[in-house]
Amino acid sequence: MRVRNKPWAESRMNDFPQYMIQQAESHKGKWHEVFGNNNPLYIEVGTGKGRFITGMAKAHPDVNFIGIELNRNVLVTALDLLIEEELPNLKLMVENAAELQKCFEKGEVSRVYLNFSDPWPKTRHAKRRLTHSSFLSVYEDILLEKGEIHFKTDNQGLFESSLLSISQYGMLLSFISLDLHNSYYDGNIMTEYEEKFSSKGSRIYRLEAAFNN
Ligand code: SAM
Repeated sequence: MRVRNKPWAESRMNDFPQYMIQQAESHKGKWHEVFGNNNPLYIEVGTGKGRFITGMAKAHPDVNFIGIELNRNVLVTALDLLIEEELPNLKLMVENAAELQKCFEKGEVSRVYLNFSDPWPKTRHAKRRLTHSSFLSVYEDILLEKGEIHFKTDNQGLFESSLLSISQYGMLLSFISLDLHNSYYDGNIMTEYEEKFSSKGSRIYRLEAAFNN
């Protein structure tokens, strides 16, 4: 999907330092200071416009959340949601998933959410998928022992390649749904993409997996 360029996004983000994390590296090992508590930290990688992460932060005030997104032009919409909701347990940051070890100490993150990640269907682009082993090793490096990733997508090919990549990595799968919206699963919070694709009749796939360390 093409995203409109918003040249004002950076200055809008600079206007809300209470919600936007700048220089995330400086908080490595000290995220509890940013939130002012020792609650567990869950991150979403590829947050997009922020519907999921704001819904999660609202539903779980005893968990700290960070929405991480490469693209300022979409994350600025998540910032608007956060300004409206005034959630003290949610921060947002512009960062590349490949660089997360610079921002978090091993064990600092308790869970990673991946929602409707770009599918990169061509084999030659497989390394760009956020469930490729190179990204799994980044998540393993920042998660606590037996930390989990929770992943949803409408894309069957991406789901199948993710199942393979996750099991080849030695992770333990604890939840798999091939049709989330027609399965028993409590507390689902929809993302923007989930709303769009499920309303057109697409099936939603979901898994949970833990590192075996
Ligand atoms: N999660 C949202 C949803 O379900 O509505 C957005 C899904 S969109 C298809 C994927 C998002 O992941 C895009 O906004 C993209 O910029 C972001 N993304 C892709 N690669 C990324 C990376 N390496 N690090 C951080 N975000 C990334």
